[in-house]
Amino acid sequence: MLLSFGFCVLRLGLGFKFWDFRFYLYRMNVYLKKRIAQRIANGHPWIYGNEIEKITGDVNAGDIVDVFYGDGAFAGRGYINPQSQITVRLLTRKKEDINDAFFLRRIQEAWHYRQKTGYTENCRLVFGEADYMPALIIDKFNDYFVVQTLSLGMDIWKPAIVKAIQKIFTPKGIYERNDVPVRELEGLQQQKGFLSEAFDTNIIINENGLKFYVDLKDGQKTGYFLDQQDNRRAIKHIVKGADVLGAFTYTGTFEIHAAHYGAKSVLGIDISENAVTQANRNAALNGLENICRFEAVNAFDVLKSWAKDGRQYDVVMLDPPAFTKSRENIQKALTGYKEINLRGMKMVKNGGFLVTSSCTNLVSPELFMQTIETAAHDAKKKIRQVTFRAQASDHTIIWGLENTNYLKFLIVEVSA
Ligand code: SAH
Repeated sequence: MLLSFGFCVLRLGLGFKFWDFRFYLYRMNVYLKKRIAQRIANGHPWIYGNEIEKITGDVNAGDIVDVFYGDGAFAGRGYINPQSQITVRLLTRKKEDINDAFFLRRIQEAWHYRQKTGYTENCRLVFGEADYMPALIIDKFNDYFVVQTLSLGMDIWKPAIVKAIQKIFTPKGIYERNDVPVRELEGLQQQKGFLSEAFDTNIIINENGLKFYVDLKDGQKTGYFLDQQDNRRAIKHIVKGADVLGAFTYTGTFEIHAAHYGAKSVLGIDISENAVTQANRNAALNGLENICRFEAVNAFDVLKSWAKDGRQYDVVMLDPPAFTKSRENIQKALTGYKEINLRGMKMVKNGGFLVTSSCTNLVSPELFMQTIETAAHDAKKKIRQVTFRAQASDHTIIWGLENTNYLKFLIVEVSA
């Protein structure tokens, strides 16, 4: 008994020393410059190449590294990709092991947060940086999961992530939607496919008492825009008995909500024929095909010409795609927002409503509101704010992490 206890201590002791030795010998450290932005100390997980003083050890892309401030203090642990402009993304501020158990724990924490905040059936389960898992997106559609690993350092952990999802949820299917251009900045290929046994990727989800087909394989992004799930309910009162126009409808979600909430007629438009086909199927799925109609047209063109023709609606809804991802094009994006909102407002009957969104994360909420104000001015309309919101709370916002606060959703009453 004593002997085996002694042996145990010896083994533990030796094991620790061996690990310690390896740790010191192969330790890969990143030392930051003395003068770096306060950003990192304040909790931002990105470290740009030009913030790094030196890197020690034989670093390979995707390795886990320890990061130290200029004064030698430990800043955190994360993954490195020397090829990327964002050289290190921190995963933790503690000296904890990054392994399969770490990802299981983090995904469990993300799930607990969703449960506590009321997002269980369909939700963004992991919202990258906001869930302390940079560049990882996981959308949960009831029993089905869609995964995006948008950086090399995160891509390496895909097996651990899939294992964690399997363990926590025993899902019916997991699908990879890494057909995203941003991966190329990390030296990764675009790809998509099953991460579980193959399954039928055309599923039906429930949202706000309605049903929607979601095409996990070929739908836009992860197949469905969960970020607007709460905002779709926000139109409930203003659409009663209304003639509604919805531009950038995608699979008709806002428009079908409008019909469900009592709109008299709904026209949804989108440039994508596929989206319009899905929107029509979704309307039929909910028995609202007599109220909703969808057309495949270019919204920029028709908003202009229909406004000129004097078409009028009680409610006009706009939910365009992001207009830019780069700072140089912000002005152009703002011009775009002003243009469509101005046309939209012109088509709103006196006392009707404009429901307008922007998911361009470089356009701040203030800038967006200013743009709407200018559009109202130029359209010679008076506006009153009904509500102003961000994305659903499963797409958590962290202050100081600008990218997480990206969706603007505004309803205004429009009068002459
Ligand atoms: N409102 C939708 C999401 C819209 S996403 C929802 O809540 O699910 C943006 C949509 O704009 C996409 O479906 C895209 O096909 C469409 N789109 C992009 N450019 C367009 C254009 N010029 N005219 C009309 N639709 C366009």
